[in-house]
Order: sequence, then structure tokens, then C-alpha cells
Amino acid sequence: MKRVAVLDDDDRTALRERFGERARFDETLAPLTWWKIGGPADALVEVQNSDELAAVLQRVFKRRLPMFVLGSGSNLLVGDGGIRGIVVRLEGDFAALKVRADDDGVLIDAGGSASLPALCAQAASLGADGVDGLAGIPATVGGAVRMNAGTDREIGEFVRSVSVQTPARPDPHPIAVGWQYRQSSMPGDAIVAGVTMRFPFGDPATIRERLQARLVRRKATQPVAIPNSGSCFRNPDGDRAGRLIEAAGAKGWREGGAEVSGVHANFIVNTGSASARDVATLLARVRRAVAERFGVELQLEVHLVGEFSEAAPCRV
Ligand SMILES: Cc1cc2nc3c(=O)[nH]c(=O)nc-3n(C[C@H](O)[C@H](O)[C@H](O)COP(=O)(O)OP(=O)(O)OC[C@H]3O[C@@H](n4cnc5c(N)ncnc54)[C@H](O)[C@@H]3O)c2cc1C
Repeated sequence: MKRVAVLDDDDRTALRERFGERARFDETLAPLTWWKIGGPADALVEVQNSDELAAVLQRVFKRRLPMFVLGSGSNLLVGDGGIRGIVVRLEGDFAALKVRADDDGVLIDAGGSASLPALCAQAASLGADGVDGLAGIPATVGGAVRMNAGTDREIGEFVRSVSVQTPARPDPHPIAVGWQYRQSSMPGDAIVAGVTMRFPFGDPATIRERLQARLVRRKATQPVAIPNSGSCFRNPDGDRAGRLIEAAGAKGWREGGAEVSGVHANFIVNTGSASARDVATLLARVRRAVAERFGVELQLEVHLVGEFSEAAPCRV
């Protein structure tokens, strides 16, 4: 596939001068995704703080460059052709996590790339009631806010404020966020820089036990040892995507190195050599089978980003 980079020499020089080794060009993204799939980014830039992110965003705005923010890559199918423009990763200050108790409950200040599993563990030890509903989601806090990640509880229930940076307004500023099933109302180009959250108090021992039980259950019901991206499709109203896929007979279906997991039918695993094209083709087959059998149009939960060699089944 012919790849046309959108960065010019000035962009590359400016990024190299400002970020040194932390700006890498034509860098393969596969190792940074849970599926271990995906082609190169024109530029992959690691920013350590809000000023550095603002500098990247100013360039993005001025030059109208495409930009994408990568979290822990646990909900992404990156095309084999990679991502054009600048891919940003939040590091340094953005990984900060402060968890403390006050009179009203457990209060959290988290940077956009703070680890959600670490947040869950620390908050549970202080008795944060409901945090067990976020256990075992391998996200950054920013990625979890973008996705309104959760199970029977969702992160949006506990978020009190969100601070973002955007190309048009590069300095951190608060934004009001609406929450829906597996999505939030944030504009597509808003990067979550920081979040505050509040949980009511519960009994720490009980919460820790519930959290542990959820982690054990995940190990038993999900293909944890093989690269995957969690649930591929959203659950349709009143049903479960996994149940429909299994009932359509798709468990075990293969395309190249991609396989519908035998452990959980809403998971697709990379058995070692899967391309994004394999996964996209399998997603389309599964979707078609469920539509033909049950008349239900499954919607993707995983985000498809970048360039695919063939039309992807649907995109976000
Ligand atoms: C084994 C496994 C189990 C999972 N279980 C669950 C589950 O129970 N519940 C659930 O909801 N999900 C689950 N997921 C999916 C995934 O973990 C969530 O969707 C998570 O919120 C993605 O976060 P991330 O940091 O990995 O984001 P990425 O996958 O890197 O990105 C996802 C989207 O968020 C955007 N994004 C990332 N960081 C930011 C930021 N700082 N600001 C703005 N946008 C940002 C990206 O641009 C992209 O559009 C699971 C995944 C795996 C692999």
C-alpha cells in the first residue's frame, strides 16, 4: 500500500528539536496496542507535561495536521497502513495519580495517562465503593474517560471534572462531559489531560474482596493470555453481543491469524500473525452472520484507526 506522509521537513525538524528521542518517525504502532497489530505512525511523540502537549497541539492547529492520542492501546485496531500525522502519547506528569480520603469519601486526581488498574487498587484499599466495577480494565484514565469504560458501573458515574487540551485551545481547561454506554460526549480532538473523581466510602475489606473476585472471574471467562482488545462489539439493548455471536456459530472462526475466541465469543484473538485486515475481515463476517441470523446490527466497541488496505467494516 502506498503511504503518503502528511508531515513536511519543517514539521519533522521542529519535533526533533523540541522532543529529541521522544519524537520518532515511521514508528510501528503494533507493540503499543493490546492486539499487537498496526502499521507505522508518521510521527510518534511522547509528551511529558501540558506545555509540551500544548506545543504539539499548536503545530497541529497551525498546519491542520491529523492527530491521534494513544492510551494503553487496549481498545484499538490500528490499520496495517498505520496512522498519518502525529500520534501523541502522554507520559511524565500525565501519569500522576493521587488517591486520598476526606470526610465525604475517596477523592482522586489522575493525569490522562494514569493507570486505571493502579487507581482501582489504591482506591479500593481506602474503601472506594463502586471502584470494583472498573477492575481489570487495562486502560489509561484518559482512554477510560473517552470510552466511558466500565462493567455494571461506568467511570463517568464517578468523574467530577475533566480537564482537556485541544488544537484550538491548547492550554488545559475544564470541559463538561456527557456519558453514554461506552462513549462520552467529548469532541474527537479533545485530549484528556487530567480528571478528578469521587467515590463514596464503603468497607475497605469488602471492596478489596469484590475487586479481587472480579479479577479472578475475568481470568476464567476471558482469553487473557492471547493478544486481544476486549469486547469487539457493544452489547445491543437487552442482549449480549457475545451470546449472539456464539449463537450465530461464529466461535472459532478464523481469518489469517485472527480468531473468534473460544473462551469469549465477543473477543477476537491474535494467534500470532494476524494483520489488521484479518481482524477487520473477521469483524465484518461476524457482524453479517449476526445480522442474517437475528436481524441485529452489532455496533463496534473497538475503535478502528488509520489506514486499512480494504474498506473497514465500520469506523468510529
Ligand atoms: C483484556 C481486556 C479487557 C477489557 N475489558 C473492558 C471492560 O470490562 N469494560 C470496558 O469498558 N472496556 C474494556 N476493555 C477495553 C478498553 O480497555 C477500554 O475501552 C479502555 O477505556 C481503553 O483505554 P486505553 O487507554 O487503552 O485507550 P486506547 O485503546 O489507547 O484508545 C481508545 C480511544 O480513547 C482515546 N484516548 C486514549 N487516551 C485518551 C486521552 N488521554 N484523551 C482523549 N482520548 C483518549 C483514543 O484516541 C481512542 O479513540 C478491555 C480491553 C481488554 C484488552
